[in-house]
Amino acid sequence: LRRNPGETEFHQAVREVLESIGPVLGKHPEYAESKIIERICEPERQIIFRVPWEDDQGEVHINRGFRVEFNSALGPYKGGLRFHPSVYLGIVKFLGFEQIFKNSLTGLPIGGGKGGSDFDPKGRSEREIMRFCQSFMTELYRHLGEYTDVPAGDIGVGGREIGYLFGQYKRITNRYESGVITGKGIGYGGAQVRTEATGYGCAFFVEEMLKARGTSFDGKRVVVSGSGNVAIYTIEKVQQLGGTVVACSDSSGYVVDDKGIDLDLLKQVKEVERQRVDVYAKRRGGEAAFVAGRSVWEVPCEVAMPSATQNELTGRDAEILVRNGCIAVGEGANMPTMPEGVRVFREAGVAFGLGKAANAGGVATSALEMQQNASRDSWSFEFSERRLQEIMQDIHARCLATADEYGMPGDYVAGANIDGFKRVADAILALGLI
Ligand code: NDP
Repeated sequence: LRRNPGETEFHQAVREVLESIGPVLGKHPEYAESKIIERICEPERQIIFRVPWEDDQGEVHINRGFRVEFNSALGPYKGGLRFHPSVYLGIVKFLGFEQIFKNSLTGLPIGGGKGGSDFDPKGRSEREIMRFCQSFMTELYRHLGEYTDVPAGDIGVGGREIGYLFGQYKRITNRYESGVITGKGIGYGGAQVRTEATGYGCAFFVEEMLKARGTSFDGKRVVVSGSGNVAIYTIEKVQQLGGTVVACSDSSGYVVDDKGIDLDLLKQVKEVERQRVDVYAKRRGGEAAFVAGRSVWEVPCEVAMPSATQNELTGRDAEILVRNGCIAVGEGANMPTMPEGVRVFREAGVAFGLGKAANAGGVATSALEMQQNASRDSWSFEFSERRLQEIMQDIHARCLATADEYGMPGDYVAGANIDGFKRVADAILALGLI
């Protein structure tokens, strides 16, 4: 704490992992002897830089850019970029720290990193977004490379921003290095299913959790928070698997739509028009209601899938969900459930799929994009989706097997943290004191 003052979210993420891995440290004294914990908690490199840009009126703005290259024991740093006014070092470090274990869990050769800026894209014109992305990359490019550090999207960074970022990287370096960034458009080196991957992957993971309890999505009421990339494709896959998504949200409030969210309308409002969810409710012609400023978790459901942002689901929200009959939670977002909420779910016996495991489908598909870029290949949608589903099934099975091995059957938190940690710790040991 003294080394990293004020980085609240980072402390929270570290505490959650450390609370899980006690039993591994007992079995493997070599980890403590070689100070693996201290080494994992200290990023290999932290880059903070100035991002100057000009708005459409010619006014100059200065934002702060970040890239935390956390751990490269398993492969090049890999993790998204977030553009949101709340971004500061503590957020980037929490996300980068989580990313180490998530990437490890996928079984693919990728290390952990994360970055972003306190830039607020809301209300900015296309040209302002492009100028910002170009300025951001003008500094960041020197730290990237397909064997070094490979960013992707996150909150506020989607296909449009990835295009501008990649374009500037290409221009500065004079290299068409496709594998330097993932989430690219299909027409220029992007992979099928990357846009859908985090949401689809989370739905596949929850499907496995439900299967393990002898049930399925079929006929279940589901609530998904957020209405961005992860939320939209979670809704799509849940609907395909037979669930009914009755509510979604954004930072202004939520919409409840008892017959099930109209996905075409939601995509039109959010992806094409870049509007808010209240516009969805207005266009739905009386089928849906918008509720301003309240928590979406008050809407009764059997499955909850938080897919907006960190700490969006409190202990009280968890109690309401349990009281309303919620049996499973799949975290599409990173660390959306506050520690008190996690405790409530675990005590109530709710199947709790933490983000590190449940939302790993995005980064896994990014690694598949890197694989296709490296071999100058491009796979079909069906093949890519099958690979994603197999990866999610494998993560689910390993979480359960590891939880069993350490005497905590059904505990996905313990299973994911222990399995993710062990693979990284063993690689760090093998690579020596570096
Ligand atoms: P988007 O920017 O596409 O969407 C974010 C959504 O969450 C929006 O609906 C946004 O509403 C809402 N939101 C964001 N911040 C807040 C806040 N402070 N309070 C309330 N609502 C908020 O981002 P993504 O869908 O890509 O990311 C969502 C989550 O999933 C994040 O936690 C991210 O780290 C995680 N994730 C994303 C992956 C990916 O592949 N994109 C991979 C793995 C995890 P509004 O528009 O009102 O701000």
